[in-house]
Amino acid sequence: MITNIETFLVDVPTIRPHKLSVATMNTQTLVLVRVRCEDGVEGWGEATTIGGLAYGEESPESIKTNIDTYFTPLLLGMDASAVARAMGRVRKAFQGNRFAKCAIETALLDAQARRLGVPLSELLGGRVRDALPVAWTLASGDTARDIAEAEQMLELRRHRIFKLKIGLRPVGQDVAHVLAIKRALGDRASVRVDVNQAWSELDAMRGIAALEAGGIDLIEQPVKAGNVAALARLKTRFDVAIMADEALHGPEDAMLLARQDAADVYAVKIAQSGGLLAANEVATVARLNGIGLYGGTMLEGGIGTAATAHLCATFAELAWDTELFGPLLLTEEVLAEPLVYRDFMLQVPTGPGLGVEIDLDKLRSMQRR
Ligand SMILES: [Mg+2]
Repeated sequence: MITNIETFLVDVPTIRPHKLSVATMNTQTLVLVRVRCEDGVEGWGEATTIGGLAYGEESPESIKTNIDTYFTPLLLGMDASAVARAMGRVRKAFQGNRFAKCAIETALLDAQARRLGVPLSELLGGRVRDALPVAWTLASGDTARDIAEAEQMLELRRHRIFKLKIGLRPVGQDVAHVLAIKRALGDRASVRVDVNQAWSELDAMRGIAALEAGGIDLIEQPVKAGNVAALARLKTRFDVAIMADEALHGPEDAMLLARQDAADVYAVKIAQSGGLLAANEVATVARLNGIGLYGGTMLEGGIGTAATAHLCATFAELAWDTELFGPLLLTEEVLAEPLVYRDFMLQVPTGPGLGVEIDLDKLRSMQRR
């Protein structure tokens, strides 16, 4: 039986300013959920988002309020080991709130996997890999600083895939910035861009042509999420891979984009999808339509990152790797033992459930009051 649900907001400074086309982040607010059960088992989930309301329609505060006010009273007293039944009631009772649903589902699945003594990946179908390549985002906005940061990551053997956040400056300036970085790194790294919807279709046609010619490997969400037709035209026009990110809010969007042949790659995000199982459905739609997969992040801390890692470990194909670097961007760790990044890969935890332990004393000391 579910006996207690607790939510935490934790404001953690980032190691450097993280510039997106929609916001510049100096702090990330982790939204963490702890579900406790009558048998003494507990589970954790995360509903961290990006940039307050600048990126999406749920904010850290609204997620916490909605879980505390609506989700918790519905769930208390329910059978904790019947995760699908509990989530069925949540989905029936509440519209939207994908991040909140993801955190609750993750916590219930974590608890159930711990109860059964298996890693969470085994409840999701079983893992086919134990480590995931991880891209790093260069988002200082300064070309020389970004090149130095990339060189350092290569030297440390932490990342050899770099994603550049662009879209804030004129197309020509952004393209020059990206291509200078690609020239400096050459074949030692894969360089990709994320436009975060900032371009018009005409901007995108100019920008992508230059990026493709300069050896950039992947173009993420160049145009508005709602403009699926433009995304489809860009996919047809260019050979370079086009990835849908903000356009993907779960399995229905995955179907819609596939029907319109709008993307080569899907960024699979557990929170954007509304939970681990919905994200798995996004991945299935992609697989059945010949669309590549990429494990996306909302810059979560260790809990959400571990959850996504367990899911990505089960994908038969993961052609475009992951960007599960969230914990590395944060100055503070809420896990007792941090996730392990080694040889350009995140090691998927092997213990029961998420396979991570929370430092509760530290979390309580950092929690927003
Ligand atoms: Mg993105």
